[in-house]
Amino acid sequence: MKFADIIGNADVAKALVSMADSGRVAHAMLMYENEGCGALALALAYVQYLNCSNPHDGDSCGECPSCRQMAKLIHPDVHFIFPVNKGPKTSDDKPTSESYLKYWRELAVADPYFTEADLQKAIGIESKNGLIAVAEARNIINKLSLSAVADGYKAVIFYLPEKMNQETANRLLKMVEEPPVQTLFIFITHAPEKVLQTIFSRCQSIRVMPLTKEESARVRSLRPDDDREEYNLFMDLFSDLMNSIISRNLLETLECGETLAALESREKQKAFCTFAGNCIRKIFMLQQNMQQIADIEPQEEEFFASVAGRCGDGFCSKAMTNIEKVTAMIDRNVNSKILFCDLVNRMFISI
Ligand SMILES: [Zn+2]
Repeated sequence: MKFADIIGNADVAKALVSMADSGRVAHAMLMYENEGCGALALALAYVQYLNCSNPHDGDSCGECPSCRQMAKLIHPDVHFIFPVNKGPKTSDDKPTSESYLKYWRELAVADPYFTEADLQKAIGIESKNGLIAVAEARNIINKLSLSAVADGYKAVIFYLPEKMNQETANRLLKMVEEPPVQTLFIFITHAPEKVLQTIFSRCQSIRVMPLTKEESARVRSLRPDDDREEYNLFMDLFSDLMNSIISRNLLETLECGETLAALESREKQKAFCTFAGNCIRKIFMLQQNMQQIADIEPQEEEFFASVAGRCGDGFCSKAMTNIEKVTAMIDRNVNSKILFCDLVNRMFISI
């Protein structure tokens, strides 16, 4: 991935290039973003730039052997860690990222803007929580203790460190603190507040900014069609819910809650919560007269404008808090019927 191919976040790209050019390469970096804003794409472009044998004009060449290996995500010195669990796509009893590397590469090469739900689907663990277990720390420590295959940086791209437990973090800590020479860790998180403090405090943090309306549309146009199907499904569910709430129909509102609880997996339910959170953000932006950065598709303008006009001032912040709570509780295996019934009821009374 070249910086030139990245959508949005030109300032972050510039900062990364300048860090590389000046030799101030942080050995541990934490990039945080709202899901889908391109942190992984930026991390890949940065590592490709650092290891390119012929960089010019602030970008990698895209043609040298290192760049070609990076394009397929098969560079021998670049490692990936991401949350996994047991599933039908591996026979490993205690799977690690390595068990699913093939699927990770396919997904990230085709679409570096993928979501956590896309990753779960790609590795076949839709109904489970992905975790980063201590075996990952052991593997990576072994790999990094070997000398680099090529003459450049060794890099570990660590996707969603918030899925790592204390034991894994403890194992990794020393390596993150004092990595071997020419080695860097890049952590990519969607929830910086959930990253263990011991890791967070050792990283230089970089905020990857939300995309503008046009940039989001470009990212969406690159994404596979089934994303669009899910988007349409979620939009229908969200508008049914909001219409029932606004028309003060409690029975219909509770029925919407049941439909959400019946979504086929916990990951799907969490993906809906993320989607609903984004919709609430759009409503809030409209209420604040910030339409230009609300990222609303033209065919949805009427719906969002009508909802924004009919919700009270405190509705959005209360709804966000409640949606975040539900997302956290889904992870804890709380009964989804109870969770969604409670959520829609709280939204109903706080409009
Ligand atoms: Zn190159």
